Amino acid sequence: MIKNGFNIKTIDDSEIIGKKVILRVDYNISLGKNRTLADDARIRQTLPTINYLLKNHNKIIIITYLDRPKTRDSRYSLKPVAKHLQSLLPNNKIILANDFLTKIGKQVISSQEDNEIIMLENIRFYKQEKKNDPNFAKKIAELANIYINDAFGQCHRAETTIVGVPEYLPSYAGLLLKKEVETISQAIKKPKKPFVVILGGAKISTKILLIDRLMAVADYLLIGGGLANTFLAAEDYEIGRSFCEYEEIQKARRLLFMAAKKHTAIILPSDVVIGNPKNITDGGIVKKINEVLTNAQILDIGPETQAKFGSIITKAKTIIWNGPVGYFENPEYRRGTDFIYYAIAQNQQATSIVGGGDTLAAISKKEYLDKITHISTGGGAMLEFIEKGTLPGIEALKR
Ligand code: ADP
Ligand code: MG
Repeated sequence: MIKNGFNIKTIDDSEIIGKKVILRVDYNISLGKNRTLADDARIRQTLPTINYLLKNHNKIIIITYLDRPKTRDSRYSLKPVAKHLQSLLPNNKIILANDFLTKIGKQVISSQEDNEIIMLENIRFYKQEKKNDPNFAKKIAELANIYINDAFGQCHRAETTIVGVPEYLPSYAGLLLKKEVETISQAIKKPKKPFVVILGGAKISTKILLIDRLMAVADYLLIGGGLANTFLAAEDYEIGRSFCEYEEIQKARRLLFMAAKKHTAIILPSDVVIGNPKNITDGGIVKKINEVLTNAQILDIGPETQAKFGSIITKAKTIIWNGPVGYFENPEYRRGTDFIYYAIAQNQQATSIVGGGDTLAAISKKEYLDKITHISTGGGAMLEFIEKGTLPGIEALKR
């Protein structure tokens, strides 16, 4: 069972033995220039579920998508992903089923041997996937006896293989989904205090609901990145030509006002690094926040802000971090983000949760990753789960 009142069966408390199982995972990993995987964390994190199912003599059919193909398109084939999974599971044979709807595809699936794992080709090659199409769901459900969701990062999408298929099969949460839901819900529902949230990234518009929700529970909201610029503009600071969503300034003002009422400290940068985002040889210049001129661009938090954020992070007992606090794509402006990451990794008394596609991409020294309690495989899913307390894909497992 998933703890914290979810009432969802998980594979480890259920007798799933000798079955044919659909395993929905999130292997949506960006491919580099030579079509190699940028990072295999999303695959590795599903290995406990796969090994558990194999140990109990189940035949697994893996379903995932890759990127945003409009139709069947070999550039978005799961071949590199299947190949990588094969290298992680040398004792099994990974078979990529090109099209499970064809006669040959059906043949491949019905003749699956014990040591074989079948992976369906990119499920977004079928346009029905995104539409939560009941007929498509039925066709997929016919392939197996059991449905297992281990794709936390996809649970915010009401798509066929997330919410449709579980209507037709006994459904369970995998071990990764269980860990994600339990760790994050625990942190939100009963946070050990002080509870510190660090938010960065570009847009405030995508994070307003989240900030609203977090204000009810967090003690400190440390804000950096492009997000901070909109707040600084709301406090009438000059931010020059920095990234800012001017149409959101009123909402930012309201959030600052609400925070004061709810005794949540929203802490904005007191100094920043300004510069040219395209220049990769000269670092920027540190400015106090009241010294920014009309033509300047804010690209990172400054050292005084790092120190301030750092001292709060050090004392935290619960930490959630989403969003780089600077324009990290240019290494000259990733120092603030690196600092936040180290500060969180250093705090071993806290439950720390880090998530977000760009946030994980921004983390350079991967060796500290295991010092963080939980690296969420979900970016958008993690934020929506914090906002709403559940997700469509999680609800679908309750039926
Ligand atoms: P995540 O994917 O982890 O949820 P977001 O997508 O919200 O993170 O934000 C990441 C983006 O925010 C990055 O492209 C980064 O360059 C941008 N960003 C952060 N700080 C700034 C800044 N000061 N100015 C412009 N862009 C910024
Ligand atoms: Mg992003």
